[in-house]
Amino acid sequence: MHIHLIQTPEVDIDKYNNVLEILQKIPGPLKFFKDKNSLATDEENSKTENTKTPSKNHSINFFDNKIEDQEEHPKPEAKRQRWKDLFEICNSYRQTHLIAEDEWVILLTDDTNEYNWFAGADPKTKNNFFIHADQWERYVPCDARFPIAYQIMAIILQRYMFTDMIDLQKKLHKKPIGCINDFCKNKEDIIFKLRTADICVSCQKEIIDLDIDGAVINQIIRTTEDIRHQMLFRERFKTTKVESRISIRSPKKRIFFTDMGDAELKLNPLEKCIYLLFLKIEEGIYIHSLSEHQEWLEHEYSFWGNGTLAEMQNRIGQLVNPLENSAHEKISKIKRKIEQLLGNDLSKNYIIEGPRGDKNKILLNRTLVTYDENWRENA
Ligand SMILES: [Zn+2]
Repeated sequence: MHIHLIQTPEVDIDKYNNVLEILQKIPGPLKFFKDKNSLATDEENSKTENTKTPSKNHSINFFDNKIEDQEEHPKPEAKRQRWKDLFEICNSYRQTHLIAEDEWVILLTDDTNEYNWFAGADPKTKNNFFIHADQWERYVPCDARFPIAYQIMAIILQRYMFTDMIDLQKKLHKKPIGCINDFCKNKEDIIFKLRTADICVSCQKEIIDLDIDGAVINQIIRTTEDIRHQMLFRERFKTTKVESRISIRSPKKRIFFTDMGDAELKLNPLEKCIYLLFLKIEEGIYIHSLSEHQEWLEHEYSFWGNGTLAEMQNRIGQLVNPLENSAHEKISKIKRKIEQLLGNDLSKNYIIEGPRGDKNKILLNRTLVTYDENWRENA
């Protein structure tokens, strides 16, 4: 099944990317595709600090996936849309990009909608959906990517299980039991569902009776479990202060946070060189002395850098040149990516930092770092 995750322009690009990453992580028959229109394709997106302020006095009545719109000062960008218009956005995307009728299009939007639902399915085609992406932070004590990704998995399962919205409303559990098909009344219930990441016995029976593809169900279960795991690890960090292990996997030395659901820190080649160098040199490095490590950096970069040897050497030369700002830029980009992935609390010991004029270093306890030399791509 091809599923296109698209967005309206006001949706935060990092939020969009984070959600897509969760959805794409577990392999299976549900293939998620990036929005072809959006800047989301730009991995080197140079967006600076997120200055968005949370909107006030919003709460979502999840009983029927509703948003109770009580805000005094609505955000200027968010509009109230008719369902029809939200699905029209899906249809126009289909036309522009020649999406087959049986493929699904899921729209992430910050706009509210005429019935104040949190998520909806197109009654006409049944293959268009919208998800309200805004305001989550107010009522779930975790990063918005988790409830949004979870909700996407829920609507996918529900699309397989129920014939239409009426059938869905009839069959969802009115009393929350911690099942993905709970009809939630309030924020505590949403957390309940997220924390259990479960499909109850009667829903499992229904899935068997309907003969839904086991591989689809497996992908949904594994993804929701992954969401649960990542969410709980962050939550527990507040009390345990236990940090995630890092695994560096050959041949491309990809960087994974093992205890964060194996989330990958996606750095571009030069950023990765810098990060691995700082991981290696525990006592830290003066930025102006980076050239002492030029040879090591060139060697590492030669494994995954692009272009000719001369071009690669040239880039490393710029990187270590104290007169250029290149290293500082890379280090702050790395910092932003780590904070994006882990959240501010957890990222402190993973970022490269140091007092002005002093060495920069990564504080992380190096016993948490392992180098997996035998790891193979797609293994
Ligand atoms: Zn159930």
